[in-house]
Amino acid sequence: MIDQPYVYRHRELAEPDWRRLPGWADVSGEDWESAQWQRAHCVKNTRQLRQVMGGGLAEPFFADLERDQAERATMSMLVTPQMLNTMVAGLSPADPGFTDAFYADPVRRYMLPVFSDRHPEWPSHPHASRDSLHEAEMWPVEGLTHRYPTKVLAELLSTCPQYCGHCTRMDLVGNPTPVIDKHRFEASREDRFAAMLAYLRANPGVRDVVVSGGDVANLPWPRLESFVAGLLDIENIRDIRLATKALMGLPQFWLTDEVRSGMERLAAIARQRDVSIAIHTHVNSAQSVTPLVARAAKAMLETGIRDVRNQGVLLRGTNDTAAQLLDLCFALLDDAKVMPYYFYMCDMIPGSEHWRLSLAEAQRLQHDIMGYLPGFATPRVVCDVPYVGKRWVHQVARYDRELGISYWTKNYRTGVEADDSLALEREYEYYDPIYLLPETGQQYWRSRVSPPLVAAS
Ligand code: SF4
Repeated sequence: MIDQPYVYRHRELAEPDWRRLPGWADVSGEDWESAQWQRAHCVKNTRQLRQVMGGGLAEPFFADLERDQAERATMSMLVTPQMLNTMVAGLSPADPGFTDAFYADPVRRYMLPVFSDRHPEWPSHPHASRDSLHEAEMWPVEGLTHRYPTKVLAELLSTCPQYCGHCTRMDLVGNPTPVIDKHRFEASREDRFAAMLAYLRANPGVRDVVVSGGDVANLPWPRLESFVAGLLDIENIRDIRLATKALMGLPQFWLTDEVRSGMERLAAIARQRDVSIAIHTHVNSAQSVTPLVARAAKAMLETGIRDVRNQGVLLRGTNDTAAQLLDLCFALLDDAKVMPYYFYMCDMIPGSEHWRLSLAEAQRLQHDIMGYLPGFATPRVVCDVPYVGKRWVHQVARYDRELGISYWTKNYRTGVEADDSLALEREYEYYDPIYLLPETGQQYWRSRVSPPLVAAS
């Protein structure tokens, strides 16, 4: 009998023992489950990482990490203990092979990127840019992106409890790094929130709001609750999605009494008014789904909200095989009751080439994950095409594999094309990583541009 390409096995979730890490050897279970303790003990620099690892990580790793922060990183370092503890869960730093395993770890690869991870010739694509999805161009009021006809993205704040190296909002989110300065909101938070609600009241064609940032877990709960309550007061809003990677990165926050009771109040109003509230999280790797994450997701479902869904990002070295994606989807679905929803191709921000997959690779992954999960839980692999929006990877109109250029069309005008009669006739381009192209394709790009620095445009 020939094995299937993927063999499903139910895996029990397990919380890795944080006490194996010397810096946290004495941390109690009570502290570990405290959101406050987690926030206070995030790793923000190499000194703190060294303290946690207690000398087990080889020194060249720290030099590699520091060089990346100085010359390449678009996001500053911020890793919650919860996330750091899921890296190399089976080894202690003193065990032989720990440093190699840490280098190879799928979560480390995107939360603690090092200089040697980046592609040496093409760290960035020549068309990579800050705000690569042009969200700020589509702000009718500051922080509110109106890209699709019926839905908007409300960027409430520019911080998160954790910073991901590949963050698509690297233009706005987090602290400045030596190579990337950050955009700062001009209006006060209260003025922005009021302007967003006023815009939504004045635009009855909008029915769906993604409440995001940053990460909504960094907004004081009463302020988040009052903003969502404000949305629930608007007749035309039927779907509200709260975006929070912290459901995985800081599940302790979503398990606090304040948040659970607040979410119960919002869910009750939503039910009364026939509105759906869902949480959208961002998990990229099966090892991130621990019992605490599952508890937090189920606690949210118990409040009466409609759903908890996952939008992961495809990242080379983290989840670029069908088995890794399926392991993740089953971990989410089986024990955490989180619905796999999307896998995005990594956006074309500076410094992301080593993470990005080609369109052909993404199409292959979509093909290879079909048929194992229930249909309703089989995620779509999507490309977020600049000035277009999310397209399923098989919707491409034309694809030049030699030059790595895909061409896409669309069926609606974005917020910046209200008067553009040709917007729906045009093709919009997206680009594969150059180093994956055949030699002729690579020569084409070399002849047109000098290999770019990380801080592209
Ligand atoms: S949690 Fe989301 S917004 Fe925050 S750094 Fe990660 S990808 Fe960016």
